[in-house]
Amino acid sequence: MRSGYHLSMHKECLTVVVAAYNEAESLPLLQPRIAAALEALPDLEARVLYVDDGSTDGTWEVLRRLARADPRIALLRLSRNFGKELALTAGLDRVETGAAVILDADGQDPPELIPQFVAKWREGHDDVYGTRIEREGEGWVKRATAHAFYRVIGRLSKTPIPADTGDFRLLSPRALAALRQLRERHRFMKGLFGWVGFNRVAIPYHRHPRAAGRSKFNFWRLWNFALEGITSFSTAPLRLATYLGLLTALTAFAYGVWVVAKALLWGDPVAGWPSLMAVVLFLGGVQLIALGMIGEYLGRLYDEAKQRPLYLVDTWLPAAGVSSGSP
Ligand code: UDP
Ligand code: MG
Repeated sequence: MRSGYHLSMHKECLTVVVAAYNEAESLPLLQPRIAAALEALPDLEARVLYVDDGSTDGTWEVLRRLARADPRIALLRLSRNFGKELALTAGLDRVETGAAVILDADGQDPPELIPQFVAKWREGHDDVYGTRIEREGEGWVKRATAHAFYRVIGRLSKTPIPADTGDFRLLSPRALAALRQLRERHRFMKGLFGWVGFNRVAIPYHRHPRAAGRSKFNFWRLWNFALEGITSFSTAPLRLATYLGLLTALTAFAYGVWVVAKALLWGDPVAGWPSLMAVVLFLGGVQLIALGMIGEYLGRLYDEAKQRPLYLVDTWLPAAGVSSGSP
């Protein structure tokens, strides 16, 4: 498929993109593992690109030290913490040629799998993603909610979003180019990868606990992440609001007919305060829920309409090995 590449004298390029937010402890453990995995791919021109997502714990200093020791390392520092999805976007935007592998900084995505990913890429796949067989070191609540989330989004969204799959994957150059065209501000990456399509293949793996440090995603953040996923890739809640409205309107109509008929047939001794309250409160609740759903979408529309840049860069240090512009 890409045999044309092999005819040319240039090696194919592979960039490992790692978003890091307060990962000073994990990064020194991760880099040797990435380096070892890249050793196994001598016929590739490999780079590692770390994106410091506005860390406050010395991550940048650790990265500078790693970059001085290895000319293949490029560093990108954002102006503040933008969140993992945008940090990854910033990193992928800087991959000029070749494929990219996305890894978590905490060692939960094993770099040892990179050669397998590359093998699949060479077979002609564009999106090679890791699927978790099990999640070690994560409580049953997180596992259960994650499971439920993937099922719900799978039903609601027309975009294929594989279950138990994170951002850990290899993207071919054309998948990368496609992804770069999606400039929405609310970035639900799993969905965006799915939207791109092309030849996709899953590689099952065991997900290990974090090497060091703490997870940045607490339940509130995960809940918002789930909302982001659903609102970015499905308008089903809006339709649900319509049906909910229809259903209550029909019920209210039937009840209205019954109340009027009752008053005509048997007179009306002004009773029924409890039922009146119940109906008013119920209708009020249903209306507020439907309004809230609309608000979720409206708020996102507002964010998109502002057309702000997705992220701002503080410092960009390309890999020393890349700059071949010597006179
Ligand atoms: N991360 C980031 N920006 C953030 C939060 C997290 O770049 O605002 C990175 C973090 O450094 C790690 C990855 O995203 O490399 C996954 O984060 P974490 O391990 O905390 O999430 P979990 O694996 O618990 O879902
Ligand atoms: Mg993690």
